Amino acid sequence: MKILKFGGASISTVERIKNISGILKNYHEEQLVIVISAVGKTTNALEKVASAFFEGDKQTALNLFAELKKQHLSLLSELTEETESESSEQLINFFTEIEWLLHDQPIRNYDYYYDQIVCVGELLSSTIVSYYLNKQGIANGWIDVRDLFRTDNNFRDAHIDWSVTTQKVTQAITFLLNQNNIIITQGFIGATDENESTTLGREGSDYTAAVFANILNAASQTIWKDVPGVMNADPKQFPDARLIKELNYKEVIEMAYYGAQVIHPKTIKPLQNKSIPLYVKSFINPDAEGTCIHNNVIHNLPPIIVYKDKQVLVQLISKDFSFVGEHLTAEIYKIFGAIKTKPNLTQNTAISLMCVLDDHPQKVEEFALRASEYFDVQVQRDLRMLTIRHFTKELFDQLTTDKNILLRQQTAETIQVLMH
Ligand code: ASP
Ligand code: MG
Repeated sequence: MKILKFGGASISTVERIKNISGILKNYHEEQLVIVISAVGKTTNALEKVASAFFEGDKQTALNLFAELKKQHLSLLSELTEETESESSEQLINFFTEIEWLLHDQPIRNYDYYYDQIVCVGELLSSTIVSYYLNKQGIANGWIDVRDLFRTDNNFRDAHIDWSVTTQKVTQAITFLLNQNNIIITQGFIGATDENESTTLGREGSDYTAAVFANILNAASQTIWKDVPGVMNADPKQFPDARLIKELNYKEVIEMAYYGAQVIHPKTIKPLQNKSIPLYVKSFINPDAEGTCIHNNVIHNLPPIIVYKDKQVLVQLISKDFSFVGEHLTAEIYKIFGAIKTKPNLTQNTAISLMCVLDDHPQKVEEFALRASEYFDVQVQRDLRMLTIRHFTKELFDQLTTDKNILLRQQTAETIQVLMH
């Protein structure tokens, strides 16, 4: 069995959805579990619906949602050349559930409503793709992943309960594979034991696919993207970025951690734990080789360049010249724990501690406020972090000339600088 994941870009137009049937034909009679993201930028649009609702602007929320309804219905009717079908009924059921919610008054926290609203993106897209493929003679079964993926209620970043999920996935998928070789489901979403919808963190569909791969002992996982595979830099910023044909799990997990937009960082562990190879391939050019990620050691990797923007430097300076020893350091990490944030980089001096964080304004503010009990706090925003793995001095110099460097850290393999 193989796991395939199609991201938002790979289903953003009628042509691209049609293209999937071509890709699937190459798998012949194999058993496949296909994990689908929301269409194009639907998740961003749904985030706007959720904020409008939560701010009490019901009409804006409904108007924004009406736009999404129209887009999905027209995608379906263009694909199938039908105006009404079983599938459009199913879409309408999903729409209605959200509209009921949008007519309520918010009484719970934002993250809860976010998940109840945003989860619909994947339900809609997977319904459309499944119906279209069935019409094309590619027989498949559809399942609501919320019936399989049990999570806690840490809304917007829910954690999977592996034991319940393993049991449900194994049972349901075995049953469904008796009827069809292909199963279509959603990435990114799950549900609590009280049947509340949850999401696993933005771009979490890669991770969903990896959880399926792990539980079902898949032969491989393939992520279909709009790039040729994993590149050594973002091709939008570096036109001569190169494809890396082979990488190991460790390299990819580091790249993702430093901010490379390749694969969701949580994806690697479930695959690595069972040595399941991960392929990253282009849906535009499906016959091209792409990148294979596995367990073996790989030598001679090119320099890998990652930029992370919107970084914030928080400098904590001892108020009375006492050392930043274990006591103060522990207090700071307690604050990180309490606000559910981890620094991207830290550096100590005798009487100061520098922390680089992503710019989540509320969290940065709360961190600064709590830390000000122990330290004088200075916050500097709008910074950029450059990370180069397998760096060369020439490349480093080239990328940092004329830059104002605020912080620099280096190991044998990796160099990082924070700059304006
Ligand atoms: N649709 C979700 C997002 O855009 C999940 C995903 O694409 O993986 O974040
Ligand atoms: Mg997406």
